[in-house]
Amino acid sequence: MSKPSTAIQCTACGAESWVVREPIYEGFTKVGESFACASCGHVFASEEDVPYVGLTTPKIFSEEDRSAQPQLFEAGENRRICRYCKHYVVNPFTQWCGVHKKEVEATDSCGRFEARSEE
Ligand SMILES: [Zn+2]
Repeated sequence: MSKPSTAIQCTACGAESWVVREPIYEGFTKVGESFACASCGHVFASEEDVPYVGLTTPKIFSEEDRSAQPQLFEAGENRRICRYCKHYVVNPFTQWCGVHKKEVEATDSCGRFEARSEE
């Protein structure tokens, strides 16, 4: 048994395993290689889909870090703007605040914000 050189964390069986490369022949011509999990035999579609250990783990981490933080920030704050206020009136010519009797922007905010009930 040769020493495993390409460690993977298999996406099919979840085991720490290694990839088995097999040449693919069409007749007598080698047309490519197949990549399979040594543990469960799952065949990966291409070498790019092989979950090599050390390549996949950091990628998963950074994607989670990026998406988690902005969502937490946006959840509460962005709802308290004129756009979602019950005093906000919009027509083709202007956006109007019913409390301050003045023109506003959808993204404005003020101390008199009251959430619109119907939506
Ligand atoms: Zn497997």
